[in-house]
Amino acid sequence: MPHCTPEDLGLAALGEPLADDEAAHLADCAACRGEVARLRRVVDALAVPELAAPGPAVAPPPGLWAGIAAATGVAAAPRADVVAASAPAAGPVPDVVPEPLPAPLPAEPAGPMAPVVPLRSRRSRLLLAAAAALVAGLGIGAGAVALATRGDDGVPVAATVLDPLDGSDASGRAEVVERADGTRVLQVELSAGAPTEGYYEAWLLDESVSGLIPLGVVRAGTEEFELPAGLDLGEYPVVDVSVEPLDGDPAHSGVSVARGLLDA
Ligand SMILES: [Zn+2]
Repeated sequence: MPHCTPEDLGLAALGEPLADDEAAHLADCAACRGEVARLRRVVDALAVPELAAPGPAVAPPPGLWAGIAAATGVAAAPRADVVAASAPAAGPVPDVVPEPLPAPLPAEPAGPMAPVVPLRSRRSRLLLAAAAALVAGLGIGAGAVALATRGDDGVPVAATVLDPLDGSDASGRAEVVERADGTRVLQVELSAGAPTEGYYEAWLLDESVSGLIPLGVVRAGTEEFELPAGLDLGEYPVVDVSVEPLDGDPAHSGVSVARGLLDA
């Protein structure tokens, strides 16, 4: 099961239900749940009133159903008590009573069709879709995850748990995935507090911990690193996460916080 898409993460952050598969993945995946929690903070920061706790549905304006029924030939009509139950306790009904539609309309009616669902609900769904994309976009813009580029999930070829080292709080999981085009990426799911100074960096080491290949900066969450073509994972099977000081020295600091051996 691949990670949730940015849109699904956005929807989850907005409190929207996900499809069963996505919801099951989210329940199991610390990285995705962490991302939802982070996006949730973005949502809270935006404080868009429309995205706050869902309000009551608004009853469709009078005459709407007659127009729909005339256009579609549907004989049934919604029960009055259902319509009344969906109406807000107070407040005016939206002032958008459509003109009665001429009946019957051709199969492809010109112009906007009368909405079948209550206006508020339809508007909220559209807002949610836009907001989910916005939230996901903001999240990625903030530089947190590399989920956006995950169109091709590839085939896992090796994986390892990242165990904490020397009493650190960092842990996680790493997986090497081979794409359809033959490139390989290392996906690192890191759970760790922000380092007191410097930053985390991911490496591949040989088993004697004397040869190493720097992969790049890694933050808590999920990051992907494309592996150099031709790299022999049998030679560099150790995934290492270090804390690096901001000293301009590209060498490994010698301070590793989590490590695992790929089971290639
Ligand atoms: Zn996930």
